[in-house]
Amino acid sequence: MYQRSSALFKAAQKVIPGGVNSPVRAFKAVGGNPIFVEKAQGAYLYDVDGNTLIDYINSWGPMLLGHAYPKVVEAVTEKAQKGTSFGMPTEIETEIASLAVAMVPNMDKIRFVNSGTEACMSAIRLARGYTGKEKFIKFAGCYHGHSDSFLIQAGSGAVTFGTPNSPGVTQGTAKDTLLAQYNNLEQVAEIIAENKNEIAAIILEPVAGNMGCIPPKEGFLEGLRKLCDENGILLVFDEVMTGFRLAKGGAQELFGVAADIVTFGKVIGGGLPVGAFAAKEKIMKHLAPEGPVYQAGTLSGNPLAMAAGLAMLTELNENPQVFDSLQKKTAYLHNGLEAVLIKNKVPHTFNRVGSMISVHFSETPVVDFETATQAAQGEAFKKFFHGMLAEGVYIAPSAYETWFLCDALTYEDLDKTIQACERVSKQLL
Ligand SMILES: *Cc1c(COP(=O)(O)O)cnc(C)c1O
Repeated sequence: MYQRSSALFKAAQKVIPGGVNSPVRAFKAVGGNPIFVEKAQGAYLYDVDGNTLIDYINSWGPMLLGHAYPKVVEAVTEKAQKGTSFGMPTEIETEIASLAVAMVPNMDKIRFVNSGTEACMSAIRLARGYTGKEKFIKFAGCYHGHSDSFLIQAGSGAVTFGTPNSPGVTQGTAKDTLLAQYNNLEQVAEIIAENKNEIAAIILEPVAGNMGCIPPKEGFLEGLRKLCDENGILLVFDEVMTGFRLAKGGAQELFGVAADIVTFGKVIGGGLPVGAFAAKEKIMKHLAPEGPVYQAGTLSGNPLAMAAGLAMLTELNENPQVFDSLQKKTAYLHNGLEAVLIKNKVPHTFNRVGSMISVHFSETPVVDFETATQAAQGEAFKKFFHGMLAEGVYIAPSAYETWFLCDALTYEDLDKTIQACERVSKQLL
């Protein structure tokens, strides 16, 4: 069934470490070989062996409207004919920047980079430069890209591979990263008290999505906002996953809590390599060339990437009912899957916010990294993953990942997925 994929994987392993350019693609957590893709359209992946799969990863989030979305493809194709990179300013950068700051609350300016990793790394540098302080707080299980100071209990990829603290990250770097438990406000208050006037920022995923989907508890985001205000700390929302997915204005809009710096990635690039970070003018003016905090990129604001991003954001801005449609589809899927698991007596916990959803095969509520890790033990998820795959449904190959729905999914696709789950769940006991 996957002969060609297996052959391609073998060839890839000879010249690419582990055969992949990003570890979570390698299926290590679930066993077996990764599937090689030929093409994708709408909600479907077509692999090199001729299988069609309903896609619940959507490139780990970017393809909010489905694969090969015509307006995005057109925009990129048209731009490519005029040259693919100049290293000089182009008008489209101002267009997408204006649209992004208009869609997202509390932000005056935005700087474009090439990945979510770069966005988060730059946001922390900016926060340090602005506050003159060196430490920051991150939460166990939150992922902010693979730059050194974040690779400390970093969720999904890092955890899946058993290297929560990667070799190569120095003690010197690690000592400035203070670790707290997600949803534990008291602990954050204690850490701040113990490190009085030393903390530049608190960074978090406002809805955690790299340890399964974990919503913030009632009052958690508001509490962090208050602690930051009282202690001269910047609140950084890593909205690489949630930005332009949960609402036009992301989690800030959904929860009504303002961040000082917001980072973006994934959806903002419409499937091309884009990241960005935004803040109020008083913070952004510290960034080079206006201010002393250095940050740069040869391909930043690349015309193809900006064209894809602009087409994507324009579509979302003009059709905000997409967010409602996505959330209804996700709720429908949730209800259908849950009914099947209850009927077949499979222990489970669903977490869902907007179009992000995850299932853990355990009955203990999953509220932080510790409970997510407990819930990820055992063979149930692996069996579920391979069972669903055999049914033509592609979910993320790790129990620590969220499913991302795209609006190209039809209710028929969702029904097929629920029926597949009905059959697969019988094999889980
Ligand atoms: C994916 C992700 C990143 C990293 O983005 P890359 O583009 O993979 O570098 C950072 N933060 C969050 C919350 C993410 O989900």
